[in-house]
Amino acid sequence: MTNSSLGSAQSGRFSTQCTPTGEAGMVESVHADPNTGNYDVVIEGGRVIDPESGLDDLRNIGIVGGEIRAITTSGLLGRKKIDARGLIIVPGLIDMHSHALDLAGQRLQAMDGVTTALELECGAPDVGSAYAEAAQDGRLINYGYSASWAGVRMHVMAGEDRAATSGHVLATLGSHRWKRDARLGEHVKMRDLLENQLRDGALGIGILLGYSPYADPYEMIDVARLAQEHGLPTFTHARPLVEQDSSVPVDGAREIAEIAASTGAHMHYCHINSTSNQHIDRACIVLDAATAEGARITAESYPYGAGMTVVGAESLRPETLSAYELEVTDIIYSKTGRALTSLEELAELRRVDPGGLVFERYFDEQASPNRLARMLAPDDWAVVSDAMPLVWNGPRNETQWPLPAHATTHPRSAGTFGRTLKLALTGAIGLTLGQAVSKCTLQPASILEAASPAMRRKGRLQVGCDADITILDPEAVTDRATYINTTLPSQGFRHVLVGGVSVVQDGELQMDVRPGRPVRNSS
Ligand SMILES: [Zn+2]
Repeated sequence: MTNSSLGSAQSGRFSTQCTPTGEAGMVESVHADPNTGNYDVVIEGGRVIDPESGLDDLRNIGIVGGEIRAITTSGLLGRKKIDARGLIIVPGLIDMHSHALDLAGQRLQAMDGVTTALELECGAPDVGSAYAEAAQDGRLINYGYSASWAGVRMHVMAGEDRAATSGHVLATLGSHRWKRDARLGEHVKMRDLLENQLRDGALGIGILLGYSPYADPYEMIDVARLAQEHGLPTFTHARPLVEQDSSVPVDGAREIAEIAASTGAHMHYCHINSTSNQHIDRACIVLDAATAEGARITAESYPYGAGMTVVGAESLRPETLSAYELEVTDIIYSKTGRALTSLEELAELRRVDPGGLVFERYFDEQASPNRLARMLAPDDWAVVSDAMPLVWNGPRNETQWPLPAHATTHPRSAGTFGRTLKLALTGAIGLTLGQAVSKCTLQPASILEAASPAMRRKGRLQVGCDADITILDPEAVTDRATYINTTLPSQGFRHVLVGGVSVVQDGELQMDVRPGRPVRNSS
């Protein structure tokens, strides 16, 4: 039991809604136990940053049963105390683009400060089963899924198992069997399957269009219309830009702008950094013009100069590499960690292992800080990890921690948020700490809250919000994962709480807790 104080006691109030704590930040509340006045958890004396209310000051936080019940300068009694003096307390980080929702992936993300990780770009081929399986097995951090356009297409066009994981969908992207034009009956079947999943709680529809870049544009309009009818967004990995592939039926950025404008659907533009690359300014002009006319388009980016994709992706055809600003030596095969040396080797790898993961090195982040700054600049873009499933180049053992060296991924899976906050804290790319925190918390929550009202209680540190809380050491926070040592966990996230339960405590991963809860659509 603890009792601490940052100032004199204040009278206060309690609300069941998230309540901005305002300039004074003196909101208090009822207690867990009216007889003792105890909170379940008290976080003492940290610098609390809430991007929505603008609070940035020393406070104590009281938590009861997974909810923030007090943010105050007054002393609070609690059964468990977390000493946050000298530390920064922010809302639990929200990653709206993660493909690593298994235990190993969630552990890496928790160590990177993440309390909610959502699979929205690829989505789950069978959303109902994905939620049921996660609930049965338990999850370390909060989770959620979109309906997978590619997964449904693979099932209807190529007979792939609907119960497949999103990892299986990603591994099948390099195959051509699912990409042919659909016949009328197939369109109807795909639409029905997607709609069923929206009824099963999917947070929208994930559209991996960039992997089927010649897909019928009318099919995309139908999919967006379906999402719009359910009041849900689409999450699109855009078709190539015309500068990258002049043979596409429509420019990737223009397509998103036009469909959002014509259907009224909320269209979220996935990793606009890696799909636009050196053409990012032109893509933004197209999107800004549509947004100015009332289209609802949101976007995200990640702080790395290399992407990761399957080697069978259309963007890695030997004949069009240069249009993507790539040399063959910029492609590194994840299984071997070795750069490819010739176009013939690339063609052969695409034939024998089209689902094999590769890095595509677009630019060196250290050498091009201005480019990194451009990718992270717009305030309303969310920071995401695009965390990739682990590749096991040896025995697969998800429960092993620390991860063995033969488990590899993209370093963004482990380090996106540590890197972003470190960049802000060191002033390296002109991003302020407040902007960075907002892009990792409030922005993704705001992008998703029309689809899922539960997101209104996340991404904020306010009374009535979920006790998803990340506490970091400003002197120590950093990513450590590199393109060589891809799974080194981030450092400096001292405490990470999911629903009031510590999943990281004193910088150590907690092995046996499973407080993660589903995030579903409002239906
Ligand atoms: Zn993608």
